[in-house]
Amino acid sequence: MTLLFKIGFLDVSIVNIIDITLVSVLIYQVYKLMRGSVAIKIFLGFLSLYLVYLVVNAAKMELLSIILGQFMGVGVIAAIILFAPEIRKFLLIIGKTSILSNENVLQELLFWRKKGTMAFNITPIIEASKSLAGTSTGALLVISRNSELKFYAESGDLIDAVVSKRLLISIFNKYSPLHDGAVIIYNGKVKAARCILPVTEKEVPAQFGLRHRAAIGMSEATDTLVLIVSEETGQVSMAKNGNILHNLSFQELREMLNSYLAGADIDDKFEFINSFENKKLKQRTAEA
Ligand code: ATP
Ligand code: MG
Repeated sequence: MTLLFKIGFLDVSIVNIIDITLVSVLIYQVYKLMRGSVAIKIFLGFLSLYLVYLVVNAAKMELLSIILGQFMGVGVIAAIILFAPEIRKFLLIIGKTSILSNENVLQELLFWRKKGTMAFNITPIIEASKSLAGTSTGALLVISRNSELKFYAESGDLIDAVVSKRLLISIFNKYSPLHDGAVIIYNGKVKAARCILPVTEKEVPAQFGLRHRAAIGMSEATDTLVLIVSEETGQVSMAKNGNILHNLSFQELREMLNSYLAGADIDDKFEFINSFENKKLKQRTAEA
């Protein structure tokens, strides 16, 4: 191992520095994943118990230390059960960001299909949103650029029809049997309606009901842009990567959709949802 320098009696090598850097990145990523969720509170609870255990142990309180010791003994298993959603999310992020996760990249690598552009005419979506917002009709549209989302599509009714303003308005009409749940749009087609989306477990501002929570949850689980038209306020919002952009203008909506479909990274435009940091979001929501 190449020795770099010494701190007192510690020999520091390049490998040590790489090791420490990687651990710091890992801890930061875990923190980023956990902030805003209940997991951080569970983690703090766990940590307090461990501190109590250390004190009890040092003070030689045998009975209490046995009980707490038993608890600590199953700590790893308990942590896996308690943090199951976070662990799932972590693995999902790794899967999502790895190069093989992009179906198009994989297909290109294996010469299955030439990479086609996923951009399509978004005017029907914008026009339909205008009309739905104007009549305060609730709607939920999942727009996907790289996957058909078969798993979620199958939770609803398969449609596979070219997107049009009239089709979207008919689906979300209050008296339509298809209006409940979400529509999935991929490659210019409405793939399915009445789909059930995963609901986020994040703490979100109180005025967001199930429709908004499902949009945020879906955007956490997949690389999709989820459009919400609120039934209560007629406002249009958009969720991406677990965050939300509230009360959008139709111009903003068009720009976002276009950049997303062109493959751009638009995550930083979204307001971060976190119980401590969502002041900006609350302000924007209050102004609306
Ligand atoms: P709004 O502002 O439109 O009232 P909201 O965020 O307050 O929206 P709710 O009023 O609870 O949400 O909306 C309920 C509707 O959201 C349901 O009728 C259903 O169509 C849709 N919805 C709720 N949960 C899900 C889900 N998990 N997946 C898909 N759609 C859902
Ligand atoms: Mg509501």
